[in-house]
Amino acid sequence: MKIALGTVGLDNAFLEQVERESGEDLSRCYQCGNCSGSCPVSFAMEIPVSQVIRFVQLGQEQTVLQANSMWLCVSCLQCQARCPKCLDPSKVMEALRRLSLRQGKRPVALAQVPDGFLERSPQQAVVAGFRKLIA
Ligand code: SF4
Ligand code: SF4
Repeated sequence: MKIALGTVGLDNAFLEQVERESGEDLSRCYQCGNCSGSCPVSFAMEIPVSQVIRFVQLGQEQTVLQANSMWLCVSCLQCQARCPKCLDPSKVMEALRRLSLRQGKRPVALAQVPDGFLERSPQQAVVAGFRKLIA
């Protein structure tokens, strides 16, 4: 897709891929920042969710895929609830995780997770965490 707003005529294969995976039209994002402001884990993200979307618009694939942001997203949907353009940034994060996994990038090797950690963790947290590792 070719998008407007500062990137006129940009032929952006990465943007097309993320939009296809997420089902979201990212040209609608006008960078209001509501999603980042409402995200409970924004403080720990290397790139806040609104900026992740902007980097995707600009085709900055490696910048986005090397950041920890998509792995820290807990799919709470606060961003979706607060977006004035009815976008769902959590779907973008999920799409980025899938693309990253298909490129062989994994934030953690399951075999390296200590048994004691798994025994202490709530089952729901373990399942939700491992679900992120399915492409
Ligand atoms: S779904 Fe992810 S990106 Fe959106 S507010 Fe929740 S943690 Fe942040
Ligand atoms: S809340 Fe919506 S329009 Fe605003 S920056 Fe986030 S995705 Fe873009």
